[in-house]
Amino acid sequence: MSDLPSFVHIQEVGPRDGLQIEPKFVETADKIRMIEALADAGCREIEAGSFVNPRAVPQMADGDAVFAGIRRREGVAYRALWLNAKGLERAIANGHVDVNGKLTLTASETFVRRNTNRSIDDTLAQMPEWIAQYRANGIAVRTLGLMAAFGCNFEGYIPEAKVLDLIARAEEVMAENGCTLKTVSLADTMGWASPLQVKRLVGAVRDRWPEMRIKLHLHDTRGQAIANAVAAMELGVAYFDSSVGGLGGCPFAGHKGAAGNVSTEDLVFSCHEMGIDTGIDLDALVEVARMAEGLVGHELPGKVMKGGTLTRYKQAAPH
Ligand code: ZN
Repeated sequence: MSDLPSFVHIQEVGPRDGLQIEPKFVETADKIRMIEALADAGCREIEAGSFVNPRAVPQMADGDAVFAGIRRREGVAYRALWLNAKGLERAIANGHVDVNGKLTLTASETFVRRNTNRSIDDTLAQMPEWIAQYRANGIAVRTLGLMAAFGCNFEGYIPEAKVLDLIARAEEVMAENGCTLKTVSLADTMGWASPLQVKRLVGAVRDRWPEMRIKLHLHDTRGQAIANAVAAMELGVAYFDSSVGGLGGCPFAGHKGAAGNVSTEDLVFSCHEMGIDTGIDLDALVEVARMAEGLVGHELPGKVMKGGTLTRYKQAAPH
């Protein structure tokens, strides 16, 4: 347990990754209210919207207005998602987005072809164009996101060797184009990961790249996300994505309504109970989870928002 971090950095992804699959449109003002409440609760990195095709994702059609409307809090990074050059151009043009230079790969050939009509090789071949676009705007590219890094509904478990090979290939392309890979974000897109597998993969990445910052994007599709996060923390992982209330179902699960993103307040609860700081006020965050539930109009999968925090019991306890 000696590698447990003293601080865990959480990127709150509820307003984007969480809301995007919600069928009922959440009004722009309500999205902004939720984002501001998240910042007030202590979230320091918030994925607040996206710049993607509004016909494909109508819920995110108001990305420009959301970013322009946020009362910005100092020290908070407001992130966005884009999937093509035009989206990145829009995010930069918006002027209120904290654009981070990030490249994305998918570890499953079948999944990436189905999703983007491109192969893994095509995606790698396109990276220099992405890097050029970022650099033309003065943005350093240091992060690689790897989707389906643990398993895929079409290809099964993803071998660790494949993940390492893809990271190495992306790192090489980045180096050839004047960038240094510093952070790898491993996403359990379809909810395949389990704790020992997380330890194996994180351990393998860490052995090969001891200086690499490892981040996890965990889904709770099969109830493993918190256990997976703790397993990673035991190896020193201190960067996670999560979603308030567990917003965001899993579109790749067999069941409609299956859990997607791990809930931020559940993750924060685990951290605090282990003595790990997050900078987040758990009770305030639970209030945001309840607000989010009201906005989407259905129950969210988060546990702590239902069971309640331990704050008042601890205050009442003799020591
Ligand atoms: Zn997700």
